[in-house]
Amino acid sequence: MNGQITCVEAVRHYLEKISASSQLNAWLEVYDIEALEKAEMLDSQRKAGAPLGRLHGVIVGLKDVICYKDHKASASSRILENFTSVYNATATERLLGDEAIIIGRQNCDEFAMGSSNENSAFGPVRNAIDEERVPGGSSGGSAVAVQAGMCMVSLGSDTGGSVRQPADFCGIIGMKPSYGSISRYGLIAYASSFDQIGIFGNTIDDVRLVLDVISGPDEFDSTARQRPSHIPAQKDYYKFCYFQNALEHPSLDPTIAGEIKGFTDKLTSAGHTVERIDFELLEFIVPAYYVLTTAEASSNLSRYDGIKYGYRNSNQQNNLNELYNYSRSEGFGPEVKRRILLGTFVLSAGYFDAYFTKAQKVRRLLIEKTKEIFSQYDAIILPTVPTPAYKIGEKKDPVEIFLADIYTVYANLVGIPAISLPLFKNDQGLPFGLQVMSSQNNELHLLSLSKLLINLQLQENNPHL
Ligand code: GLN
Repeated sequence: MNGQITCVEAVRHYLEKISASSQLNAWLEVYDIEALEKAEMLDSQRKAGAPLGRLHGVIVGLKDVICYKDHKASASSRILENFTSVYNATATERLLGDEAIIIGRQNCDEFAMGSSNENSAFGPVRNAIDEERVPGGSSGGSAVAVQAGMCMVSLGSDTGGSVRQPADFCGIIGMKPSYGSISRYGLIAYASSFDQIGIFGNTIDDVRLVLDVISGPDEFDSTARQRPSHIPAQKDYYKFCYFQNALEHPSLDPTIAGEIKGFTDKLTSAGHTVERIDFELLEFIVPAYYVLTTAEASSNLSRYDGIKYGYRNSNQQNNLNELYNYSRSEGFGPEVKRRILLGTFVLSAGYFDAYFTKAQKVRRLLIEKTKEIFSQYDAIILPTVPTPAYKIGEKKDPVEIFLADIYTVYANLVGIPAISLPLFKNDQGLPFGLQVMSSQNNELHLLSLSKLLINLQLQENNPHL
């Protein structure tokens, strides 16, 4: 903040926006008094000439899966409805350390499982562009909060697209860094070998600044990357590829296919190279993702048993098993139960090799293929989602919803960074994004490339710029 407005004025502005947009249901809790107190403190420190934190006065929202000490963290689930976190997530700790102001916790799909935010125990979130439509998920509240100007940036989590997909539906930027880039300490687990905190913002600079602050090694997460992100080599012209069968996929909306194809032409006219490649593993990625993530989820969610913490049924049970059964049956919603059952099934003795081992083999093949691709190309471009935002209640078949993750889950299976850039709109005014991916640990390269792509699109749309 450059001193033109105070932190208190900024917080007041965002609190007004939040209360004027309460029908969107983006927030589960707003820390109004606390945010104002923090802002007053920051203002007086600044006036006293104290050096400013890198996020001095930046107003941030947290998806309700990221722990904030002495605040509730429910994962939008009844089972954790009254749970209060006793420590800060590393990401939260670093935001606070650099003087960000956390303004509230944001609604999401229960335990981050879903693609529309309709799986929250606390009601759906509405898309601010059309309130009858979903904002995407699972980090729907975090996306809408940035979309509708209720905070400057949000942190979400992305296990298979939950930052990029709602960013696409809401017309904002959503980035998932490489696996391990941001510590998962204090992130409520869904599928630990996929989970990664991601960032929503309106500009690449905002996303980059937040990434700089919250990423890096962490003694509390052994999977957090030790080495810094590679420094991008600047080039005049880049080499992109896209998967031909992905762009010709029958589930892909023709307008989206057309715009992305058109954009590849712009890239070529600007001197870059764009090549299509065969990606014969495309049809295996969604099944592999759902086998592996549900397996990990069934194990991660076994801790919610009515004993250690969270909801407990306290009147019906006659023995320990009944206590578990009643507490878990009443505490979890239907989508979470479906995934626990599926995950338990794929891990069961008789089926382990047929499902879990096979899916692990697909993951290995994908990693090898990805290395081969990035030995030849700077980035992969794809759509983020096959369709724009749909109506709340419109999609009922869970398998149909799973299949729409076709473009996002790949980056999580192989651990590479990926971003959705809000470059397009259809004729109904609904936004959709361009997804860009770079090789592992190359998020800084991905961000500088993203700037180039946004500028290219802006210039084309406004030739006088
Ligand atoms: N839609 C995907 C799922 O339901 C992604 C969720 C996520 O990234 N948390 O699993």
